[in-house]
Amino acid sequence: MNTFRLSTRPTVLAALLAATLFAPAMATDKKVTWEDIQNDEKTTGDVLTYGLGLKAQRHSTLTKLNTSTVANLVPAWSFSFGGEKQRGQEGQALVHDGVIYTTGSYSRFFAIDARTGKRLWEYQHRLPEGILPCCDVVNRGPAIYGDKVYFGTLDAQVVALNKKTGAVVWKKTLGDYKTGYTMTGAPFVVKDQKTGKVLLVHGSSGDEFGVVGWLFARDPDTGEEVWARPLVEGHMGRLNGKDSVTTGDANAPSWPRDKDGKLKDAWNHGGGAPWQTASFDIETNTIVIGAGNPAPWNTWARTKDGDDPRNWDSLFTSGQAYVDASSGELKGFFQHTPNDAWDFSGNNSVVLFEYKDPKTGKLIKASGHADRNGFFFVTDREKLATGAGYPNKPTSLIGAWPFVDNITWASGFDLKTGRPIEKGNRPPAIKEGESKGETVFVSPPFLGGTNWHPMSYSPKTGLFYIPANHWGMDYWTEKVAYKAGSAYLGQGFRIKKIFDDHVGILRAIDPKTGKIAWEHKEKFPLWAGTLTTAGDLLFTGTSDGYLKAFDAKNGKELWKFQTGSGIVSVPVTWEMDGEQYVGIESGYGGAVPLWGGDMADLTKQVTQGGSMWVFKLPKR
Ligand code: CA
Ligand code: CA
Repeated sequence: MNTFRLSTRPTVLAALLAATLFAPAMATDKKVTWEDIQNDEKTTGDVLTYGLGLKAQRHSTLTKLNTSTVANLVPAWSFSFGGEKQRGQEGQALVHDGVIYTTGSYSRFFAIDARTGKRLWEYQHRLPEGILPCCDVVNRGPAIYGDKVYFGTLDAQVVALNKKTGAVVWKKTLGDYKTGYTMTGAPFVVKDQKTGKVLLVHGSSGDEFGVVGWLFARDPDTGEEVWARPLVEGHMGRLNGKDSVTTGDANAPSWPRDKDGKLKDAWNHGGGAPWQTASFDIETNTIVIGAGNPAPWNTWARTKDGDDPRNWDSLFTSGQAYVDASSGELKGFFQHTPNDAWDFSGNNSVVLFEYKDPKTGKLIKASGHADRNGFFFVTDREKLATGAGYPNKPTSLIGAWPFVDNITWASGFDLKTGRPIEKGNRPPAIKEGESKGETVFVSPPFLGGTNWHPMSYSPKTGLFYIPANHWGMDYWTEKVAYKAGSAYLGQGFRIKKIFDDHVGILRAIDPKTGKIAWEHKEKFPLWAGTLTTAGDLLFTGTSDGYLKAFDAKNGKELWKFQTGSGIVSVPVTWEMDGEQYVGIESGYGGAVPLWGGDMADLTKQVTQGGSMWVFKLPKR
């Protein structure tokens, strides 16, 4: 009967056909599997991970957009996040089955039709009074798995939403927001290679308020904690709801004690928060993540009275941590800044890559990391994942090279010991009878040679692309005492320019030699991530509002588009209906306008905003 009815009512059939052809059904019921996530770096039709793959290389194999075609890149649509409050938009979007999932300021989540820019649903997290984000009300993006999407909120929760409807499936609290716990980083999905269990992995933020930083693994279906790992030495971890093992030595020998033998109070509030997103070394079942600065910033509060701060490392802060996916135990660690006195932190992305040793021809499985302290590190990730580099002896360090000019705190690293060669740039202690210490000039400043905005690696050019900055700070020691919910720094600062013609410095660096292959200067600070493609393109955004494309081989600027507000987010690219798309958030904010001294003044002229921009190369 159906056949008869259809054949006698051709207009209905035509309408059905038209619906299929011109408005493809949104197959948002399609689940995301672990295999989809594992293959993300190879599949061009979707973006399922922060970092565009488990190794976080931010490289796409797409070539439709390339150095000859990029001039034809045009906007496809723009979507406004709306709202009266805007501020910094630092999110990296995910793309699955024709839908963009992304996050905005003030803990908002958006699902948008990737073809048209139409909003499908929106989730606005209800935020309490008294949240304590250090560096603007930002969110850096979601994770996706199964039929859910996930993100962290400023009141220290992780929220799972049904990806088709935006309905809340579960919410879990990771810490007390009143004491400074927040979550700004994108969560990450891994699969424990021993048990076959898929895990949602995320960290906490809050080092500026004296939290103890934790890394968590949860059941993605229920949000139940599987394990949790604190990153301050001597603190106890958890596994399946019970105490597991301490992080490092239970006696915490890298943290000093008072005369009465008790650990100094800083240890109770020691920081180390892993607030950026992890990468995953599937071969060794290891989660790789940067650990935040020790708290307080004041180096003397973490040094035995009368001793040299270089004898007190404040483990396991300001370094790269290697955590076993099954047990949540710390397997290896490399510290970029022992007893970090400058809030350099170690949170910037740790990118997994491989290369042939130029001398022996042997394949090296390495990690690349551009630190706020101004050095680009290449470490042996196999050694770190098997505990040989724990903590630093024997060293896992292969190379450490400056990626910015005028570094004042260290002249380099000793490859035998893995330790920095310091230049006496620690801010002096407060002298008896004075209220603050003598001011020293430090470069890079705490905002970093680069910061959270992630770099990319092109296996094609063999180069890393670092969105870096040239700047410095006046820096002095202040008195410090812990008070729950108050800033716990013990340092004062003023950020300053060091060159007249630029602050931002986009640099391509060779991880085999540390040589800078090319550079591009920007007047304003760079605070957006980079993306490279097999079309030899490098995409990034600028604080004065441009999405720009460069030739990845030589740094020549090939294309730009003004998005109407500053860009402090992370670009992505994907393919849909045979066309290549590029997407990025626009909306100025983040740490620079809040903490940036002279640079905050410089960027006052940038207008506020909040939108998702999508570009494509039209079919010819
Ligand atoms: Ca993909
Ligand atoms: Ca910090």
